[in-house]
Amino acid sequence: MSRIEKNIEEIRKDIKEHSPNPEKVRFIGVTKYVGIEEMLEVAKCGVKIFGENKAQVIKEKEEKFRELGIDDIEWHFIGNLQKNKVKYIAEYVSLIHSVNKLSLAQEIEKRAEQNNRIIDVLLEINIAGEESKEGYVLEELYRELPEIMKLKNINIKGLMTMAPFSDDEVLVRGVFKRLREIKDELNTKYFNGQLTELSMGMTNDYKIALEEGATLVRIGRKIFQ
Ligand SMILES: *Cc1c(COP(=O)(O)O)cnc(C)c1O
Repeated sequence: MSRIEKNIEEIRKDIKEHSPNPEKVRFIGVTKYVGIEEMLEVAKCGVKIFGENKAQVIKEKEEKFRELGIDDIEWHFIGNLQKNKVKYIAEYVSLIHSVNKLSLAQEIEKRAEQNNRIIDVLLEINIAGEESKEGYVLEELYRELPEIMKLKNINIKGLMTMAPFSDDEVLVRGVFKRLREIKDELNTKYFNGQLTELSMGMTNDYKIALEEGATLVRIGRKIFQ
């Protein structure tokens, strides 16, 4: 068994052990650290969702996979997305995890329409209020949400957050728990249960995120370590 294969097995086992609903959890292989060779190995292990955080890179990789005749990959955009880069991903992206302002949502809407698509997105929330992190603080989200909800070519599937990089498990767990509460609150007030996804958990904190109800875990370093 290769190193990558062994790491992926371990992640799958952790999902079964730590999630209350493992059948609802999807594991995104974050491949921003590696090239096509390693990605092919990851795909061979059955991981068919790739997460990337640079628009031009994800486009190149998507094209390369299509050239190779591999068309069963879901491409997820997970990082900070600049408006002028949406055009590089609008044609094929399966889920954008990081909608954090109205103007970005409007640009995604425009490009989705040009491509005759409805693009699935998550709203990124900055729970801990860290200055260094992207994402909505709640009052800003509540201010912009009515306008975002008018957009016809984007489909809001849930929420995403990044916990502070910390060994303090209580703090990290609190952040994930809060994201779940906000999802429930938005479902009641605005979405009538339409929000189903919680994208939370990375290499250092995915077990805690799973315990708190993550449905999408974004894991990179752990695969390639
Ligand atoms: C890089 C990245 C990840 C993966 O982090 P690892 O620590 O490598 O597992 C997850 N989410 C986002 C937004 C990232 O940029």
